[in-house]
Amino acid sequence: MIIRSIETFQVAVPLKKAFKTALRTVTVADAIYVRIQTQDGREGFGEAPPTHVITGESLASIRFTIEEVMKPLLIGRDLHYHEQLFQELHRSMVRNTSAKAAVDMALYDLLAQYAGLPLYQYLGGAKSELTTDYTVSVNEPSEMASDAVNYVNDGFQILKVKVGIGEISDDIKRIKAIREAVGPDIKLRLDANQGWTPKEAVQAIKQMEQEQLNIEFIEQPVLAHDLEGLKFVTNHTLIPIMADESVFSVYDAKRVIEMRAADLINIKLMKAGGIYHALKIATLAASHDMKCMTGSMIETKLGVGAAAHFAASQSNIVYYDFDAPLMLKEDLLDGGIQYIDSKITFNPAPGLGIKRVNKLVQRGTLNDSFK
Ligand code: MG
Repeated sequence: MIIRSIETFQVAVPLKKAFKTALRTVTVADAIYVRIQTQDGREGFGEAPPTHVITGESLASIRFTIEEVMKPLLIGRDLHYHEQLFQELHRSMVRNTSAKAAVDMALYDLLAQYAGLPLYQYLGGAKSELTTDYTVSVNEPSEMASDAVNYVNDGFQILKVKVGIGEISDDIKRIKAIREAVGPDIKLRLDANQGWTPKEAVQAIKQMEQEQLNIEFIEQPVLAHDLEGLKFVTNHTLIPIMADESVFSVYDAKRVIEMRAADLINIKLMKAGGIYHALKIATLAASHDMKCMTGSMIETKLGVGAAAHFAASQSNIVYYDFDAPLMLKEDLLDGGIQYIDSKITFNPAPGLGIKRVNKLVQRGTLNDSFK
């Protein structure tokens, strides 16, 4: 279980349709892939996307963190002492949570392989199957309504609707158009991605409540740092409020829970710095009877697969936002998680269940860009 090598690769996969939120528009899923090999020939894989507007990381910073900071720390180390390794990994640099997550998930992939178990079982095995939502990007109401109908026709019963751009009345028009188009039985959850002020959020949410638009919950209505504002929204509305960008670390989660600033937390590996700290957030939330969602950034099936294994391992993670790989034109993995419409199932192979990463093998040259 001795770590022999750590390599990074750059990948870029185009999206089928531009992904638009209150924070950004994405047309290509860029990422750094990491491969960690042990002396006995096992391979663990990880992924980190550069989500500048949320984590502050770039392809260059992710690569630097992994190659210059983590690699020297980990080469030659024994995975039998993984608690020690994770502690050192997370102390080696502040922030840079996505870079840490890529290395962390590759190490968990290896640990589960040594245990001979799929990663979700190694971590706890609360569930063996998940149902993901599908995200409707923020656009004009008519385009959003027709996108929503397409996703429902593709087999998705839960839609996550991006709002938070323009006037409050624009957002209400968007949600009304979608609700009218998909009918009463489809679950709608919203994500404002920090796009409202606290008062705007209360105004918007009260209107949704009055018009009985039947919203499951609303993610991150206000600015990430504004926990008082988040609490104001939570206290003045009935629809459950979820903290996303406000919660990166276990310390953020502790503050949100202590303040009762939100009803729910969205745990993402790319914010938490990987599974090691995501588990701590989930446990903290569970000890306060708080339910969580796990979602992803715009990631390929590698990063989302690790997040899905994590989510399936914990019983208080009950909402899943794992549609990102379905938005991509290409799947680089053989193996890994499997999608049947909105259902996600797990490969019985140990670890993340990745047989190979196609373009890494085809190119043959390590550290080669795919672009
Ligand atoms: Mg969100």
